[in-house]
Amino acid sequence: MIFWLALWVAVITVAGLFTLAVRRASGGSWTLTLAAILLAVMSLAEIGPNLSAAALVLVIAAGGLFNYPNLRRGLVSNPLLAAFRRVLPPMSRTEQEAIDAGTVWWDGELFSGSPDWDRLLSIAPPRLTAEEAAFLAGECEELCRMIDDWDSTAVQQDVPPRAWQYIKDRGFLGMIIPKQYGGRGFSAYMHSQVVQKLATRSSAACVHVMVPNSLGPAELLLHYGTREQKEHYLPRLAAGLDIPCFGLTNPHAGSDAAAIPDTGVVCRGLWQGEDVLGMRLTWEKRYITLGPIATLLGLAFRLHDPERLLGGETDLGITCALIPTGTPGVSIGRRHMPLNAVFQNGPNWGRDVFMPLDRIIGGPKMAGQGWRMLMECLAAGRSISLPSSACGYAKLAVRATGAYSRVRSQFRTPIGRFEGVEEALARMGGNLYMMDAARRMTAGAIDMGEKPSVISAIVKYHLTERGRAVVNDAMDVLGGKGICMGPANLLARPYQQLPIAITVEGANILTRSLIIYGQGAIRCHPYVLAEMRAAAEPDRFRASKDFDRAIWAHVSFAVSNTARAFLHGLTGSWFTSAPAKAASETRRYYRHLTRFSVCLAFVSDVAMLVLGGTLKRREKLSARLGDVLSMLYLASATLKRYEDEGRRRDDLPLLHWAMQDALFRIQTALEGVIANFPSRGMARCLARIVFPLGRRFGAPSDKLGHEAATLLIAPSETRDRLTAGMHIPDNETEALGAIEAALDAAAACEPIEQKIRGAVKNSLLSAERPEHLADAALEAQVITAGDHAMLTRAHALRDEVIRVDHFPQDFGRSEYAQITGAAVTG
Ligand SMILES: Cc1cc2nc3c(=O)[nH]c(=O)nc-3n(C[C@H](O)[C@H](O)[C@H](O)COP(=O)(O)OP(=O)(O)OC[C@H]3O[C@@H](n4cnc5c(N)ncnc54)[C@H](O)[C@@H]3O)c2cc1C
Repeated sequence: MIFWLALWVAVITVAGLFTLAVRRASGGSWTLTLAAILLAVMSLAEIGPNLSAAALVLVIAAGGLFNYPNLRRGLVSNPLLAAFRRVLPPMSRTEQEAIDAGTVWWDGELFSGSPDWDRLLSIAPPRLTAEEAAFLAGECEELCRMIDDWDSTAVQQDVPPRAWQYIKDRGFLGMIIPKQYGGRGFSAYMHSQVVQKLATRSSAACVHVMVPNSLGPAELLLHYGTREQKEHYLPRLAAGLDIPCFGLTNPHAGSDAAAIPDTGVVCRGLWQGEDVLGMRLTWEKRYITLGPIATLLGLAFRLHDPERLLGGETDLGITCALIPTGTPGVSIGRRHMPLNAVFQNGPNWGRDVFMPLDRIIGGPKMAGQGWRMLMECLAAGRSISLPSSACGYAKLAVRATGAYSRVRSQFRTPIGRFEGVEEALARMGGNLYMMDAARRMTAGAIDMGEKPSVISAIVKYHLTERGRAVVNDAMDVLGGKGICMGPANLLARPYQQLPIAITVEGANILTRSLIIYGQGAIRCHPYVLAEMRAAAEPDRFRASKDFDRAIWAHVSFAVSNTARAFLHGLTGSWFTSAPAKAASETRRYYRHLTRFSVCLAFVSDVAMLVLGGTLKRREKLSARLGDVLSMLYLASATLKRYEDEGRRRDDLPLLHWAMQDALFRIQTALEGVIANFPSRGMARCLARIVFPLGRRFGAPSDKLGHEAATLLIAPSETRDRLTAGMHIPDNETEALGAIEAALDAAAACEPIEQKIRGAVKNSLLSAERPEHLADAALEAQVITAGDHAMLTRAHALRDEVIRVDHFPQDFGRSEYAQITGAAVTG
């Protein structure tokens, strides 16, 4: 009897404590529950009244301590604060400014353990205005018709002058500049649509348009420029009268950009015949996009004021100024050749170039504020430029390769129907579905006023990496057709140049290993930043109060997440809630994502507790935790896309593939953290709590891959939605136009080919000479003359599509020299 009673008490105790933990119960509820449990245990164990009373007093006293703030602060929180200050790694000013920059948006929800899915789904998808839609269909399409990647990269080695002029005249360089300054005043979403479309046509034109609209003089002027600076420069930049570039990178400071050795020294000097207060600048920059043709150089350098002429510190810090490139002493170097890309890129330098202080962006009061300015403005450009161009490359790869896989046959079968090729096509489709979802959701967030610094790093890294994966898969599927360069090859240039996107705006290894989680764990975690701010607070009373509030909320959060991670792992996420608005076919994905959001918060707290400040240096661990956060973001965007597009059931194989792949990757990343966690005892605890039933998620199945791949190799609305926003030439003389026409023709001929196959099977036709089958079928009246004409056209288009370019022995150098009159050397 007593055994059963004890068992009941134990079960009720565990269930009670678990419920308190999951529900983040108040300190009072914990005290009362613990007192009740104690009473029950003591009466069962027949403990004497004196001991019982003493134990009860102890519990109530401990409860009182935790529920009475002044006592709690004095006895527990303040010593904890002192210990926290000791282990907190020192943070430089530039690190602090990077942490403080930008806003936290959906990434904060994903770290909360309880993402508010209804809130996400209620956000309207971004839309173009009528004016933007007209520009995209008008000017942007027209520009696409003017440019040709092969012509630019192999012949002109630049954007053709006519197209460059059109870019300037039609305001492509001023898309982010408001109309009051003569710019286009486009939304972030429109900006993304333009960059994406241009990327499907010419990387050089895309980069030339992308860079002035990203982080650089215009963006910095808009946020920090003085009235005079805005009124002078913005109209000139919008009209293409000034070509901007931005120089941050120095040969000795690439990823560690805050360490640039370029200097400015505050001094007096002669400027246009007058003695003025200014600065003497010395710098060396390299890799600067648009640098070789720029007229206005945005320059980042460290400003010193050794004579304290500005009345403050001697080392003022990183400063941004605008330098007209015609200024005496400014040297513009020659061109780099980044992987055969022909967008303008090169070095520049200056020695003792004197500039008045009003050339500092924002004027002298902004001296030393450059790093903060750059960090604050980074989110918008980084969220748009490279993610959008990567989507453009991926769309081109998916559309062209899907069609090619249907048109190209081997072993008398379209190659897209072989399981091996299907595997690659499924990856391409699933990756692109997710990439485009994230691109749109992020651009929409910027249009809502967010400056999502962590999310911008997530989309920069993951969309460029997936873009590279998609193009790599496409190259494998295309075989020799992908490798032989020339006008008929659509993917060789994107393949060649994708590593540029991997390297710029935060090289990808650094972005994954240091930035995403390094910033995410501090910015997106609900309590860590508050604790750090409290630790840095000089007012002791305020520090104690703020820290006390944050740390106990954090403890309750961590306890709750421990219980919830275990519960959801045990129950296959069934006790999490899916949003009321979600489609039934996607509800289980929301539940799993909520579970992994809890796991991310839980494992992060354990990692921070065990590793403290050294977590920052454990890049392999923090990269994997960043992968979990990133995958949660990409998966959220994918689910939202499905709802935003009106639940297109035909697209479900792509959605399922993308979601199952993401869940599998999250599981793999968490397993990687646990397997490599330095404390093995803690690793075992983590494994029991996060994966109490072991691995539950597998990679997308072969059957699902087959369904996803099939969508890419036939004309359909799904294929059009997947590649929406591309430039698709409407004539068959263009490589992509020919592939499109060949796919349509191949699909239209399927019933005709079926008739012929039936006739061969019934011995009405001989299969010995397949090249003559169509003629024989016509002669045997198996097909009509119209059918025969369709087949003939389909075959001609197929032959055009599988054709590759060939060149004279010298690759046409002498022919080209004859045309241009240039000398041929060597
Ligand atoms: C084509 C092109 C255009 C560019 N345009 C511009 C421009 O317009 N303006 C401008 O200012 N700059 C520009 N850049 C510079 C670009 O931003 C830098 O190339 C980039 O910051 C990386 O610097 P780096 O090439 O010197 O590589 P490095 O800094 O030498 O890095 C080498 C490798 O080490 C990794 N790494 C470095 N630190 C860490 C770390 N802590 N943890 C993990 N990995 C790390 C990096 O990820 C990278 O893989 C351009 C570069 C190129 C190639």
